[in-house]
Amino acid sequence: MQSAETNHSDFRVLPLEQLRWLLISYSMTGLLYWPRSPETGGATSGPSVQGIQGDEPGRLLQALRQEIGDCQRCRLHQSRTTLVFGDGSPAARLVFVGEAPGYDEDQQGMPFVGRAGRLLDRMIAAMGMQRSEVYICNVVKCRPPQNRNPSADEVTACSPFLFRQIEAIRPRVVCLLGNYATQTLLQTTLNISQLRGKDRYWRGIPVVATFHPAYLLRNPAQKASVWSDLKRVLELLKEDNQGTPL
Ligand code: SF4
Repeated sequence: MQSAETNHSDFRVLPLEQLRWLLISYSMTGLLYWPRSPETGGATSGPSVQGIQGDEPGRLLQALRQEIGDCQRCRLHQSRTTLVFGDGSPAARLVFVGEAPGYDEDQQGMPFVGRAGRLLDRMIAAMGMQRSEVYICNVVKCRPPQNRNPSADEVTACSPFLFRQIEAIRPRVVCLLGNYATQTLLQTTLNISQLRGKDRYWRGIPVVATFHPAYLLRNPAQKASVWSDLKRVLELLKEDNQGTPL
């Protein structure tokens, strides 16, 4: 039986990966630069959920989006411009979960498209992936007024949709960005500083918690910690690729 927690310190890397991460670590020492991918250039790319058809996770996500409809299950519907369901591949092996849409996301109907989103794009690119390969969503689907934190009853109303998104995709790893995503999935009141750095599981899926990119923009000294967490994500994906039980 899997233990609920595994320390990150014992993860192993191949020499090429060590070299890549070493270079990335050097680039992070300035704490202002995050490497860009020539493939994505940090831009949003790839199919939206609504554009995917024919595969089971895609059908499940489409059905869920239809079920949410013009949702008025909590007060956040009153101030939203657009309900932000999610973005990315229904076949994603990696799902990122954030807190809530901000102004840009509310305007565009896409998660993580503002400043924090551009940083997340760079993080994904630096992991050697494209945004279109992963799936990105939030705990609540509507923007809280003035970007305030979602209230407990709003999280309670909306989080079942998040759970069903993850269940539909069944990714190999879920990366939780910040306090709300982590506390909601792990059902805890501990904060992200207390929760990151150890493997955890949600319904059998490995979960890695790290700081939210918006927090990272305000606290660039935490980039090294985030990189440590993202390396663990890559390690878990690699282990799964090699058929090693997670
Ligand atoms: Fe519905 Fe979630 Fe939006 Fe509340 S935040 S109105 S529960 S979609």
